[in-house]
Parts: sequence; structure tokens; C-alpha cells
Amino acid sequence: MSINLEDFFEFGVKEPINRLAYTQEDIDYKIKVIEKMQELGMKITIDKIGNICGSISIRNNPKRTLAIGSHTDSVYNGGQYDGPVGVIVGLQTAEELLNSKNCNGTLKVAIYACEESSRFGNACLGSKFLKGSITEKDFDSIVDRKELERGKTITLRQAVSDYISYFKEHVKDIEELDKIFDEVDYSLEAHIEQYELLKKEYKKNKQELIGIVNSVGSAVRVKYDVQGKADHTGSTPMKKRQNAVDATAFIGKKVRKLGKFYEKIGFGRASQVEISTPGHNGSFNQIPNFAQGMIDFRLLGENTSDKVLKDFQDIQEKVEKKTKTKITTTVVSKGNPVITSKTLNTKIANACSKEDISFIEMPSYAGQDTGYIPAKEKTMIFIPSTGGSHNPQESTKKKFIETATKVFVSLSKELLAEKFKDKQAYSGKIQNNLPKPKSNEKDSDKVK
Ligand SMILES: [Zn+2]
Repeated sequence: MSINLEDFFEFGVKEPINRLAYTQEDIDYKIKVIEKMQELGMKITIDKIGNICGSISIRNNPKRTLAIGSHTDSVYNGGQYDGPVGVIVGLQTAEELLNSKNCNGTLKVAIYACEESSRFGNACLGSKFLKGSITEKDFDSIVDRKELERGKTITLRQAVSDYISYFKEHVKDIEELDKIFDEVDYSLEAHIEQYELLKKEYKKNKQELIGIVNSVGSAVRVKYDVQGKADHTGSTPMKKRQNAVDATAFIGKKVRKLGKFYEKIGFGRASQVEISTPGHNGSFNQIPNFAQGMIDFRLLGENTSDKVLKDFQDIQEKVEKKTKTKITTTVVSKGNPVITSKTLNTKIANACSKEDISFIEMPSYAGQDTGYIPAKEKTMIFIPSTGGSHNPQESTKKKFIETATKVFVSLSKELLAEKFKDKQAYSGKIQNNLPKPKSNEKDSDKVK
């Protein structure tokens, strides 16, 4: 193989990675990937938001398109594997497919730009752009958050423009397009798991395994203001108090209970993530009249965002009554969880059986590029990892990455074969031990 994992990962090393989107570190890593794409004979394109794609027609029949990719940017002080694993698995799969007979179609290895929200406060910019949900206005209104704190404004437009110029200057034959693609037939992504479910399973059985992601979660985020009444803590009886901070405490408790219930039924999870009391003078003797809070709901499955907002409204009404305060809420974001392609998941399960690889069907609570990529059929897989993600401790093994490649090679050969086999039933070894979100094919259609 000319694609060596050691060229992209330092296995066993746990140094912080600072490959923030559109920075020189980000560019340098992408250039390494591009060099390999070019060695494989791929044509390189870059688009208006900085997504990068290596394309190759296998046996000169471009009709069917398969994209395999992920992101290579990181958070501040992140780890090596969250993101790049999916891109390098794409490269390895491409190399294998180019040597295989009976494949027909265009293979694309994609690096989606700016998946992490660390720099610009907005996640999955590259894949959202492909979906059409980043507007021209966004290019000017989205700014580097840290630079803003230092009094300097760097807009997304400016960061992307410098970045594209660098690639145009340093990469031979790179072509600039509006979008690296409008829609592909199939989209695949491999990613490290972000909690240690697979790792535990691997410890038990020591057998090669992957997670088949049945649903990519989405966040509903709510901000709220509590209006109470300032009063003297000594002279105001308990039952007369309109304490804004008390209200946030009740909300936090109830949201935690709701989150635990949602998690139990496989619907999502929730927590109060921040509270503040602007305006309070910090003295012991004053009842706070105003407080603000933020809630983050992580959801899976169909129609969950409306349901959770209704549940939160019930909480709000109960707390208002209990604390005699007035609570107003603002929904900051309301994403729709995405159900991945059942057809692809079944094919992956079959590929696993063929290769003697175990699998677990599991959701991704975290948002992922796969949630936005415009594809007729899309899905993703997880590989076992330790140390969570978004920190230098995140870690996986070479053999786990190779397992993902093996699965994608087997699946891609089937997808790009002249004729498809029809749907077959799951016959994997490990049964799903997680509650499943209800599937909704219409929902996944909507994300096109
Ligand atoms: Zn990631």
C-alpha cells in the first residue's frame, strides 16, 4: 500500500493537536492528503468554502458517484483521530478500488471544511454549504471568535479566501468550483466513536468490530430569561420571594430529569449548560431579580425537536408558577436528527458478515458532516477508540482503522459493481443493545 497510516498519525503519541479550520496547520495536513490523492491519479477540486475533493472515474464510467470523507480540522488542543480517520480510510479505500475489477463509477475522497465549531462558533460549515444552508451573508457575519475577543475581526470570507489562494499557489492543477459536488449517489464516513461502547465490546470479545451509525443526532438549543423581583433577603418571607436564580435551579433539575428519561428511551439527552445573573450586584442581602440560562438538548429520531420543545414549555410553566417569576425563551437552533440509509446499513452489515467482522448498531449523539452531505443514500461507521474525543487523549489503533477500510472496500465494490444485489437481512453477530430511535425514511429524504 502506498497509503501508510503512519504518514498521517503518530500512534501512541498524545500531544495536543491545534489544526484549527483554515489555519496553516490545517492547510499543511490537507496538502499531505492531496499529495496522496494525486499519487492515486485523482483530480483535485476545491470549492467556495474550502471543501477539497479528489475524484477519479474507475473504468471511465462516471455515472455512479460515491463519496467517502470526513474532516481534518481539530478543536483547540484536540486529538489526532477525530476527523482524519475518515479521510485516510477514504484514501485507502480508493487505492484498493483502483486495483479491483468490476467497478464502475466515480469515486470521490472528500475533506469537508471546518467541521469543528471552535474557530467560528458554527459546526460543519463545509457540509452545510454543500447542503445549501450557508448563505452569502453568512460568509461576512461568521467571524473568528478568539480574534474578536482580541479586538480583531476575521470573517469567514477572509479566512477562506486566504486559504484558497494558498492551495491555488501550492497545488498543481487544483480546480476551483462552486461546490465540490451538488449531490452524490452514496456518501460514507468513518469516524472514531466518541464514547467507549465499541472499545468495551472489543475488550470482551477481542474480535474486529465496527459501529453502524443508524442516526446522526442534532441539537436543539434554548436560551431563557427569568424575570423575578429584587427584594431584601432579610425582610422578604420565603413564600413572597420571586427569586430568578431559584427558577434556574428548578429548571436545571427538571431538565436533568427529562434528559435522563430521553436517554433511557433512546431519544436523546439534555442539560442546562450555563446560567448567569447579569445585573445582580453580588451582595448577600439582595434577592436576584433577573437570571439567564442555556439548555442543550441532544436528540435522535423523528420529530424529537418539537417534542422536546413542548416538554420544555411544560417545565417553564411549572417553574413560573412555583417561583412566581416570568420566563421567556428563545430557540437558538433547532436541528433535525438524520436517520441514515437502511439500505446502506444492511449492506454494511452483510459486508461485515462476509469479512468476519462484528458490528453494533448505534447512534451518533454528536453532530457529524454526514448529517448534511447531500446524497441519495448516506451513512457512517464508528471504530473503537479510547479517551473520548476533542482532547489529546483520544486514541485508536491502526488495526481498527484498517477494519474500517476493509468494510468500505467491500461495500464500495458492491455499490460500484455493474449490478446491485438486492436487500438482504442483517446477519451480524452482535445484536444491537441500544434502544433504537424510530426510523423515518421521509426525514432522511428531506436532507438532500
Ligand atoms: Zn469529527
